[in-house]
Amino acid sequence: MKAATRVLVTGAGGFIGHHLVKRLKADGYWVRGVDIKEPEFEASEADEFQLLDLRFWHNTLQATQHVSQVYNLAADMGGIGYITAKLADIARNNILINAHMLEAARVNGVKRYLFSSSACVYAGYKQNVADLTPLREEDAFPADPEPGYGWEKLFTEQLCRYYLHDYGLETRIVRFHNVYGPLGTYEGGKEKAPAAICRKVALAPYSGDIEVWGDGKQTRSFMYITDCVEGLLRLMASSHRDPLNLGTEEMVSVDELVTLVCNIAGKQLAMHHDTGKPQGVRGRNSDNSRLRTVLDWEPKTLLRDGLQITYHWIEDELRRAGRLQEALAYASD
Ligand code: NAD
Repeated sequence: MKAATRVLVTGAGGFIGHHLVKRLKADGYWVRGVDIKEPEFEASEADEFQLLDLRFWHNTLQATQHVSQVYNLAADMGGIGYITAKLADIARNNILINAHMLEAARVNGVKRYLFSSSACVYAGYKQNVADLTPLREEDAFPADPEPGYGWEKLFTEQLCRYYLHDYGLETRIVRFHNVYGPLGTYEGGKEKAPAAICRKVALAPYSGDIEVWGDGKQTRSFMYITDCVEGLLRLMASSHRDPLNLGTEEMVSVDELVTLVCNIAGKQLAMHHDTGKPQGVRGRNSDNSRLRTVLDWEPKTLLRDGLQITYHWIEDELRRAGRLQEALAYASD
């Protein structure tokens, strides 16, 4: 039955997309992966992997041929430094991808279409304090999303509703809250906070110091990748058509996140806060009430457990690249 279900994953060369392809294959689906690049750390398990730039109409038409389900994860995105620096490029690239992907899915008769939105759609004025009330789905309005990236996500959520309304395209909309785990980018400018912190801690000498963006008091919640993928499959199978949070309610400050990673690494490091660096909204946490009701489930992995796996994966990568010796040599200078 599942082998007969043909699934397209866009962004299959990226972090979440690559993990999703692995899970779909393990579950017995036929999978096509599409991206502008191959996965960074290991080969894709997709039955077909096509290198296509989905900003172009003819490529979206090709990508969506002969599939019944689409997980559209392709996006120009990165951590807070990246999304606050590239407003026009990100908004333009992503609106092209998403407008073409929805129309191509309609033209090719796709049965179900999942759009990966983000907690960046939530109104900024509701996230001004570190100890904020967790965000419920209705807190995206009146609208005041993250400039560029968040506005595009919010508009594409609406576009999904219009395709459902006008054409009956069954759309699903997930709002991820900070996903982390192994096989994710950990340097180069597009990495997110957990990966960046793991890298900095791994490279720091044992009683050295690390740079932390902002004053460290800003808060977030973080979801481990296997929970993220489980939630995606459950949402796709559900009949829920409105946007849905997918994250954890385990909120920590950035300083607490750094301390957790230091404990895992067995290092005592001094934190140097750089308040000149972008730090995003003051506080953000997911309210999972609707998630629990709709999916009868919620992410379970504790931050400490997920970080343990992630830290050791990044440390191993750096060791393989011969870069931990450099950190130790620096320590003995
Ligand atoms: P990622 O950057 O690892 O993956 C996105 C992939 O999209 C990349 O491999 C990239 O090459 C590809 N892509 C970009 N432009 C493309 C184009 N023109 N044509 C084809 N492919 C293109 O990011 P991710 O963390 O795996 O995120 C997946 C989705 O989830 C994205 O839509 C992102 O906005 C959303 N999201 C992620 C998080 C998170 O914490 N990781 C949080 C909120 C939302």
